[in-house]
Amino acid sequence: MLDAPAYNSQMVTEWLTQKFGLYSHTASKYWESDADIKPPNKTLQQCPDIAKQLIHSELGQNFHVIMGCGRNKFLPKTTTDEEGGLGHRLDNKNLIEEWKEIKEKDQKKHEYIWNRKQLMEVKNDTDYLFGLFDNDMCKYNVDRDPEMDPTLEEMTEAAIKRLQKSEKGYFLFVEGGMIDQAHHDNKAGKALDETAEFSKAIRKAVEMTNEQDTLIVVTADHSHTMVIGSYPKRGSDVLGLSNIYDLFKFKEIIPILTYANGPGQEHTVNGSIYDYSKDNIDMNYKYPVTYKTTQETHGGDDVLIYARGPWAHLFGGVMEQNAIPHLMAYASCVGDKSTACKDGATSTGNGVLPNPKTFEVITCLQLLLTVIYCKQYINIFYEL
Ligand SMILES: [Zn+2]
Repeated sequence: MLDAPAYNSQMVTEWLTQKFGLYSHTASKYWESDADIKPPNKTLQQCPDIAKQLIHSELGQNFHVIMGCGRNKFLPKTTTDEEGGLGHRLDNKNLIEEWKEIKEKDQKKHEYIWNRKQLMEVKNDTDYLFGLFDNDMCKYNVDRDPEMDPTLEEMTEAAIKRLQKSEKGYFLFVEGGMIDQAHHDNKAGKALDETAEFSKAIRKAVEMTNEQDTLIVVTADHSHTMVIGSYPKRGSDVLGLSNIYDLFKFKEIIPILTYANGPGQEHTVNGSIYDYSKDNIDMNYKYPVTYKTTQETHGGDDVLIYARGPWAHLFGGVMEQNAIPHLMAYASCVGDKSTACKDGATSTGNGVLPNPKTFEVITCLQLLLTVIYCKQYINIFYEL
């Protein structure tokens, strides 16, 4: 069981200022640097851009490990980075240098790194690690330079190694952000490959931790519009073609995977069904769509949630996604409201039920949105 505030926090993702849900307050996901906020006005003073929040907010300053890409959001537009790419910022701030200055002033052992080789050689006594591995978003796994670009699994391993030095416990957030990027382009091959990479990162976290004392939760923040259709033969490549069965006849060959919308090929051209058998299907192939748009949209399906470790039984069934962080806070004894520690439970998730009072709270948490008699516990959700 974790017994400390989440201040020993770490974040690993592929695009730091796009995947900001852990640390920033913003009215828009396109708030990444000051150059993205148009027109620049006093809104920036009221709500700084996401990159600036990461470096200067209290929460961001307490992150011991920050790894990802999108270096240009941290550099002035006149500054060239280590790989020859330009920055984006208009305010002339070099947030990477500012991060180093803050850590030097606070006398914290720190390292800024920008490639895989440096990640592999991070000193054991480094307490604060900041890695930006690409000027723009991270490369897809299949396009990666194996010498220069770390995998999500390698970043996860490096983060957990640092975390495990902490006696107080820790919170680690890992996002497989390139799955989403690939789906938006209808590149199902890359999306599935990135999903496999995400799976490797999860496996590494499972291998490096003990389910007696570490809670691991795996979920998604939304689905995409990709579907698996048709009746492919046994042993078919899921990225390949298949017959579809229509009105008791096998007709036209189409890819097994298709999307509701996006930049891929529409099924009909001038009233005739498009012949997909002529297409070269590789990892950059854009899978077919019902309705052509410049970018594929997110989907509205329910997503899965898996958990293992203490209090894992809280994460199941049908739940609102905004309950998840509150359940994590409850399980990890974070915050000044009701928590697993304050309720006096000492062991759960291993077949031992919490005491009756705790159980009542848990039941309430799981049914919060529909059960009125749990009103007295609503502050657990809204004020934690
Ligand atoms: Zn998206």
